[in-house]
Amino acid sequence: MTQTAPTKPSRADGEQKRFASLDPRTGEVIAHHPVHGEADVRAAVESARPAAVFWAGLGFDGRRTRLDAWRRLLVKRLDEFQTLISAETGKSADDARTELALVIDHLHWAARQAPKTLGKRKVRPGMLMYNHAATLEYLPLGVVGVIGPWNYPAFTPMGSIAYALAAGNAVVFKPSEFTPGVGVFLGATFAEVVPEHPVFQVVTGFGETGAALCAAGVDKLAFTGSTPTGRKVMASCAATLTPVLVECGGKDPLIVAEDADVRGAAEATVWGGIFNAGQTCAGVERVYVADAVYDEFVKLVVEKAKKLRPGGEPDADFGPITMPKQVEIIKSHVADALERGGRAVVGGLESIRPPYVEPVVLVDVPDDSTAVTDETFGPTLVLTRVADADEAVRRANSLPYGLGATVFSRNRGEELADKLRCGMVSVNSVLAYASVPGLPFGGVGDSGFGRIHGEDGLREFTYAHAVTRKRFAAALNPMTYERGSRTIRHVVRLVKVLYGR
Ligand code: NDP
Repeated sequence: MTQTAPTKPSRADGEQKRFASLDPRTGEVIAHHPVHGEADVRAAVESARPAAVFWAGLGFDGRRTRLDAWRRLLVKRLDEFQTLISAETGKSADDARTELALVIDHLHWAARQAPKTLGKRKVRPGMLMYNHAATLEYLPLGVVGVIGPWNYPAFTPMGSIAYALAAGNAVVFKPSEFTPGVGVFLGATFAEVVPEHPVFQVVTGFGETGAALCAAGVDKLAFTGSTPTGRKVMASCAATLTPVLVECGGKDPLIVAEDADVRGAAEATVWGGIFNAGQTCAGVERVYVADAVYDEFVKLVVEKAKKLRPGGEPDADFGPITMPKQVEIIKSHVADALERGGRAVVGGLESIRPPYVEPVVLVDVPDDSTAVTDETFGPTLVLTRVADADEAVRRANSLPYGLGATVFSRNRGEELADKLRCGMVSVNSVLAYASVPGLPFGGVGDSGFGRIHGEDGLREFTYAHAVTRKRFAAALNPMTYERGSRTIRHVVRLVKVLYGR
C-alpha cells in the first residue's frame, strides 16, 4: 500500500483553506481541518489575552475545580478519545489507552500540585535583612504557545498544556498536521468545562501555522518535535525575545550490566524499542551489553522480537509508521548498518513494508553508522557487545543527544545512572520516569532544554515574583546615604564574625 501524508490545502484563496487528516493504516480521510494562517493565529493569541486574565483570576482553587472537571470528562470519553488517537496515528488500542492513562494522571497531579509549588511562601530574609519579611510566588506568564508532535499527540503536548494551565496561563496549541483531530478534541472538551473565555485554543495547519505561532507574541513557546525544527523554532522566537522550552529527539541507550536480570532486561529492551512502532522520543534505540551476558541477552531479545507483528487491527502488537517520510529514514539506517558490516538477527530490509515495519534487530554495527548516531524512530534495535558496564556508560554518553536512558544492574544501578549525561534514567525498568508526574522530563544537548512535568514543569510556565516588606527600622541600615561610616564598619565586623571563620 502506498502511504499518504495529510493533503495540502485544496480550496481557492479567499475561502478558509482546509486539509484532511488521514488514517495511516488505510489512507482514509478522518476529517478536514482549517489551515490557520498568520492572521488567524494572531487573532487567537489576542483573544487569549483577556482569557488569561480571567483564568489567572480564578486562583489555584478555581482552576483546580475546572481542571478536575476536564479530567473527569476525558475519563468519561476515554474510548472515543482512544479511537481518535488510534485513527490519526495508527497506534494500537492498548498503546493509545496507555497514553491516555498518563495524560489523565499528569493532569490530576498538575492541578493538585500547582498551589504547593507556585503559591506564595515566606523566605528567610537572612541575618543582614532580619527586619524584613520576604515572600516568593510564581506568577503565570500570560499566553503560552504549544507546538506538539504526532507520536504521542495527547501525552506529549499535555506535558506543557496541563502544566501551563495549572500555573494560570492561557494556551494556544498547534498540533501536528498528522494529528489535528486530537488537538481539536482536547480543545473542545476543555471548552465544555470552561465555556466563558477561550482559555485553551487550538489552531491547525502545517509547519507555517507553527511558525506563525512562534511570531505571534506569545509569552513563551513550548515546542516538542525534532531537533532540526527545534532549531528553527528557537531562531524565530529569538526575533521577539520569546522564551522557549525545547523538547527534541533522542537516541536513547539501554545498558545491560554483568550483574543484570538478563530476562528482565530483554523484556524491557523489546518493549522499549518496539512499542508504538519505535516512534517514542525516549524509546530504546541503542543497547550496550556486557560481554559476560551478551550471548544470552541477544538470544532472548531475538526470541521475543520475532513474535511481534505490526498491523492495523486493534489488538496488533504495534501499528504503522505514522509519518510516511519516516519509512525512508528507517530504511536508510538499516541499509547503512548492513552495508558497514552489521548483521540483522531479526528481520532486515525486507521487514520494511509501508506503512508497516516489522521488528529489526541489528548486531555488530559500527559506531559511525547512522543506525547508531541518528534517531531512527522505528521498531529497530542495535545491540552492541561491550567489555563491561563502564564501557557501556562511555559509549552511551558519546552522542550529542541526551534525553533518557535505561540501566539494568542488580548492584550498580544508581551508580551507573548517575554517570549518564541525560535528563532521565530508569533503573531495572524502562521509561518509568515518564509515568511519575512529580519527576521533570526533558533532555540535554541536542535533545533540548527546559522541563515538562514535575515541579520544574510547573515553574517553566511562570516567572518568579519576589517581594520584601520592611517590618521595623534596623539598628544598622547600610542602604541609605544617611548611614555614616560607623554603620558600614559595624556591618563589615558582623560579616567577619558571621562568615569569616
Ligand atoms: P517535527 O519537528 O517535524 O514537528 C513538530 C511540530 O512542529 C509539528 O506540529 C510541526 O507541524 C511543527 N513545525 C514544523 N515546522 C515548523 C516551523 N518552522 N515552526 C514552528 N513549528 C513547526 O516533529 P514530529 O512531529 O515529526 O515529531 C517527532 C519528533 O518529536 C521526534 O524527533 C521525537 O523524538 C520528538 N519528540 C520529542 C519528545 C520529547 O519530549 N523530547 C516527545 C515526543 C516527540 P507539522 O506537523 O504541521 O509540520
